[in-house]
Amino acid sequence: MSQPRKIRCTVEAITDHGERVYTVDLAPRTAVPAFRAGQFLHLTVDPYDPAGFWPESRVFSIASSPHERRQLRICYSVKGRYTTLMERTLQVGGEVWVKLPYGDFIIDEQRDAVLIAGGTGISAFTALLEALAPQGSPAVTLVYGVRTPGLLLFREMMLRQLAAVPKLKLVFFTETADAAFAQQMSALPRAPRCLTGRIDLAALCPPGSAPGPATSVFYLSGPPVMLKALATDLQTRGIARENIRTDAWE
Ligand SMILES: Cc1cc2nc3c(=O)[nH]c(=O)nc-3n(C[C@H](O)[C@H](O)[C@H](O)COP(=O)(O)OP(=O)(O)OC[C@H]3O[C@@H](n4cnc5c(N)ncnc54)[C@H](O)[C@@H]3O)c2cc1C
Repeated sequence: MSQPRKIRCTVEAITDHGERVYTVDLAPRTAVPAFRAGQFLHLTVDPYDPAGFWPESRVFSIASSPHERRQLRICYSVKGRYTTLMERTLQVGGEVWVKLPYGDFIIDEQRDAVLIAGGTGISAFTALLEALAPQGSPAVTLVYGVRTPGLLLFREMMLRQLAAVPKLKLVFFTETADAAFAQQMSALPRAPRCLTGRIDLAALCPPGSAPGPATSVFYLSGPPVMLKALATDLQTRGIARENIRTDAWE
């Protein structure tokens, strides 16, 4: 694993997805150290002098591919004081500092995987999903829950991969029903399963079973309340604790 490094970045683009959810593309001034899909970085909007202390920061999963060493992408939703500050101060052409890589939420690419993401928690999985090869062997099921269809980040990439990768399954949960979205999805040659409400395993599979082969590893990423409830539910469905991995947010 690489030693974490502090790198100055220019904000290249900010995408506003609505409901205070943003994607931020960063151009690092130097190539970023090697990292693995699922790892995270620290980001600070404060000025930083490399001779001094690291300022207040928050952590975000790295949504960009580990193969792209000259580009970084994160997604964030405004939750508390610091993300409100980010929303106010981040602007295209501006500067931020990041330090990376951190974390051991790394997906075992040799085993079947069930990925469960809430909101911007999807960032921990995007690099893996994007890299899935059509003939790749392990099966991957993604269960992704958001408030509205407009907040399904990376939707185009996921649908492209669904069409190309036979062993990929997609389930979208949206809290609000949207007939136009449901119709658009059902018209696709290979359609994701679309359900309304919060992520609910009972809506996906009968009691005593799980949304993927029992030999899979289950990876959960998103807000802590969601992760706790789903991890407990998976255990009551017979999934061993060691096969449930969480990227718990504080
Ligand atoms: C592994 C991991 C990955 C994450 N990935 C994402 C992601 O991809 N997208 C996303 O939107 N969110 C992500 N988060 C959550 C994110 O880091 C923020 O914690 C969250 O957005 C809370 O919002 P806030 O920082 O504005 O809240 P705040 O109210 O400002 O702070 C929330 C918490 O941060 C901690 N904190 C308080 N002060 C400090 C300080 N001085 N220095 C450091 N920490 C402090 C405290 O625990 C506090 O309760 C991730 C968290 C973790 C742990």
